[in-house]
Amino acid sequence: MSSESKEFRKQGKEMVDYIAGYIDTIEERPPLAQVEPGYLSKLIPNAAPQNPEKWEDIMKDVEKAIMPGVSHWRSPNFHAYYEVGSSCPSILGDMLSDGIGCVGFTWIASPACTELETIVLDWICKAIGLPDEFLTEGSGKGGGVIQGSASEATIFSLLAAKMKTIRQVVEREPDKDQYDVLPKMIAYTSDQAHSSIERAALIGSIRMRILPSDNQHAMRGDTLKKAIEEDKAKGLLPFFICATLGTTGCCSFDNLQELGEICKKENIWMHVDAAYAGTAFLCPEFRYLLKGVNYATSFNFNPHKMMRVNFDCSALWVKDEDDLVQAFYVDLSFHKHKHQGAVRDLRHWQIPFGNRFRSLKLWFVLRMFGIKQLQAHVRKQVQLAHDFEKLVLSDSRFEIVNRVVLGLVCFRLKKSDELNQALVEKINASGKIHMLSSDLKGKTVLRFAICGASTENKHIQYAWNVIRGIADSLLMENGLSALSL
Ligand code: PLP
Repeated sequence: MSSESKEFRKQGKEMVDYIAGYIDTIEERPPLAQVEPGYLSKLIPNAAPQNPEKWEDIMKDVEKAIMPGVSHWRSPNFHAYYEVGSSCPSILGDMLSDGIGCVGFTWIASPACTELETIVLDWICKAIGLPDEFLTEGSGKGGGVIQGSASEATIFSLLAAKMKTIRQVVEREPDKDQYDVLPKMIAYTSDQAHSSIERAALIGSIRMRILPSDNQHAMRGDTLKKAIEEDKAKGLLPFFICATLGTTGCCSFDNLQELGEICKKENIWMHVDAAYAGTAFLCPEFRYLLKGVNYATSFNFNPHKMMRVNFDCSALWVKDEDDLVQAFYVDLSFHKHKHQGAVRDLRHWQIPFGNRFRSLKLWFVLRMFGIKQLQAHVRKQVQLAHDFEKLVLSDSRFEIVNRVVLGLVCFRLKKSDELNQALVEKINASGKIHMLSSDLKGKTVLRFAICGASTENKHIQYAWNVIRGIADSLLMENGLSALSL
């Protein structure tokens, strides 16, 4: 036995104990790190050690130096952003992935890496009710791949759509090349889309038009149709839209049916960003929100959000694998293998060359929870959001400003933006709970997201008491009545 593996047996067990203890006592830690920038350089040296240090010393520093600067996303009192998945089955799968340490860029580089990823994404595709065209199994050309993040999935889809459109135009008009076509191309998304969508366009040097959403914060067909007509009249070439299911700001849902019909008519690639909401489609009662997904060219969601899988794990499906594989195909003699062409080589399905064995954590999560427990998790998170919504509605000083569909409630004091901003700042400074504000159609709103897997009704009640208490003193400080109307 090598001394490395001998020590690992002992240290690995201690690390599991440390993590289990961390999970069991997480509520005792402040959800938002209470440190100032630069805190860490005061606690650890400014150069790496020349000689090995003792495991015990490193672990002591974890508690002393690292943990004070950690925001505890798993805490039941963490209500910022969206839920980011974490679970023991996922950690176990990732441990194995790290233990194996292979890089699956081609099938032969580690066949199980490619094949498990393909199979598990078919499992999820069926479990969330996507059309069969996205499956690898069967006679179609569909399939799924794990990307690092939803942002990566959007960039890759946008770039693939760009290449596909250029190929089509150049085939039709052989006197043109990509540099003639590129300046005319235009993509669309809504004013509620995640910032990564606009960033994808910037990275891809693509003109993007941000369309106004309707009063339910949804992108609608008539808005897209009008924009396309205007842009075509200017000689532009609409080729891509990114629709969102479960927007970041307020968890609204674009109308895929209306948008999809237009995309089909106009030969536009429709990418669906369901980063957060995708997991909810494990439950049939939420699938009405998927209506029109049959028009999507690509579909993405993050199992590393509500599906209990640790970051990073973002699932991307396409109906036609050639759309991805042909987009940036580079043949390398060094990586040829005898099954090439007959099997999937993941290096063509993503921007990076190397592919981590991320499907193991998905596989462990799916097998150790089963679809039923994952469905129960979604339903619990949504129920907790509705419990919180009721508490807000019981206090007439506040208003709810989004339709609560999944695990996000947006609300505000019926007062100025400044007062709402001050409220969220004081809430975070209290160290008791953590939440964010956002700008919704020009108004400051507070976002309360159900994030922790261990969040229960008592934490919702606790959070509401914290919010209400701080609102009382804030209103009094500002010479306003703290009583509800
Ligand atoms: N899209 C939506 C709707 C999101 O809510 C988020 C993040 O919360 C993203 C994209 C970005 O996700 P990622 O961090 O996986 O790139």
